[in-house]
Amino acid sequence: MYTEDTIVAPATPPGKGAVAIVRLSGGRATQIAMALWHSQGSTAPRPRHLSLGEIRDPLNGAIVDRAMCVVMPGPASLTGEDVVEFYCHGGPYIVRRVLGLAIAAGARMAERGEFSRRAFLNGRMDLTEAEAVADLIDVRSESALQQALAQLSGALAQRVGHLRSAVIAIRAHLEAEIDFADEGLNLPGRKEIAADIARLADDVALLHDSFRRGRLARDGARAAIVGKPNAGKSSVLNLLLGADRAIVTAVPGTTRDVIEESVTLGPWPLVLQDTAGVREAGDEVERIGIGRTLTSVAEADLLIPVFDSSRPFEDEDARVLALCQGRAGVALLNKSDLRPPILSPADLLGRGLAMPILRFSALSAEGTPALRDELALAVEALAAAGPDDGVAISRERHRQALAKALEALRSARASALSGMPPEMVAVDAASAAEALGALTGEVGTEDVLDAVFREFCIGK
Ligand code: GDP
Repeated sequence: MYTEDTIVAPATPPGKGAVAIVRLSGGRATQIAMALWHSQGSTAPRPRHLSLGEIRDPLNGAIVDRAMCVVMPGPASLTGEDVVEFYCHGGPYIVRRVLGLAIAAGARMAERGEFSRRAFLNGRMDLTEAEAVADLIDVRSESALQQALAQLSGALAQRVGHLRSAVIAIRAHLEAEIDFADEGLNLPGRKEIAADIARLADDVALLHDSFRRGRLARDGARAAIVGKPNAGKSSVLNLLLGADRAIVTAVPGTTRDVIEESVTLGPWPLVLQDTAGVREAGDEVERIGIGRTLTSVAEADLLIPVFDSSRPFEDEDARVLALCQGRAGVALLNKSDLRPPILSPADLLGRGLAMPILRFSALSAEGTPALRDELALAVEALAAAGPDDGVAISRERHRQALAKALEALRSARASALSGMPPEMVAVDAASAAEALGALTGEVGTEDVLDAVFREFCIGK
């Protein structure tokens, strides 16, 4: 069991609230907490039961707060160690005082994510479950919530665990072949092993390809709003956000950088990017802005091209159309309130625009419900494009680990088929098993743990 010093931290956010929780974990958690705690009626708190009492300064007996306390002895606790929580009145001064008393009694201030790190090191959760806890706290949409809950249930860890066991079984066959080469054992032939590896590689590839769906659920699709200057891009963004986030002016070229904001469409998060106008750059700053627009367009899952229906089709619109080639999205014929319209959906269709086209007015809000519906459909189509068997990965770290495992398995299969010595195949199988183990944290380095737990807040 992993044991270290006893840590303490607030488990609730800073600021005022009804309740603030101060959490301790470690071998001396109970001892330290009980140095400050005076139960009402003087009976020691029963494990896993809330008790009412006072937190007092052990030096002079002064009351610091009237509070509640719960003692959760390890190993069946959050961290696997003894854990104590004080439920204090939610004021910053009280929290500071309680922390100070705990530290004076021998605890140390916890680092970011240190409670979760201890839970991981003590086998209370694997790395993907720990990440799911961080994801849950960041959730801003129903799809992200469901993705985090599925991961927290251990579904991903189990799936990866099965894949890893299968790789290890193949490796065991190979090791047997190496060790007992002369003893005439009835071991699977090379073709059989290659076929087993190929099946396994398909399963790993399936999980790898779930990244798109998992990322869409967790982080949202990215939609870039593009168009010539003054087409109404910033106005469209503001309308969707319901706030004046982007500066709207009648001077072309106001949005020189990429502005990013998140909205939700039904269950899906959508990250909207307002880009600099697509046109010839007037100056250096604008040139950089336009460069960023092109990057943003390249990286976006969806495009929202905005055309000014009150003006004829211009060269700059042709550039926007070119960016839309082969891309998913929703096109807007903006300024539909200005009559009569000069540019029509038929004009854009005729020029080869292959996405839904909506008459829109950022000024009167005409077309807003239709835009939200079309965007939601487009996101759903993106999410449905990949494989879906329930479990999805959602982080680049997961994707990279699976890509590494896949590469190793493909190399193992090639070696097996080309009659390489079993040692060669075994080396690749070992590195596939290692990559899968790194995903769940069974094989790990401090660096990976540092990177994962750095994302957490203090007290988590
Ligand atoms: P951007 O350069 O494409 O981001 O365009 P803006 O959103 O800054 O809008 C440019 C100008 O067009 C501003 O004066 C807006 O008020 C105006 N505008 C934007 N959308 C509409 C619309 O639907 N109807 C009308 N009449 N004006 C609009």
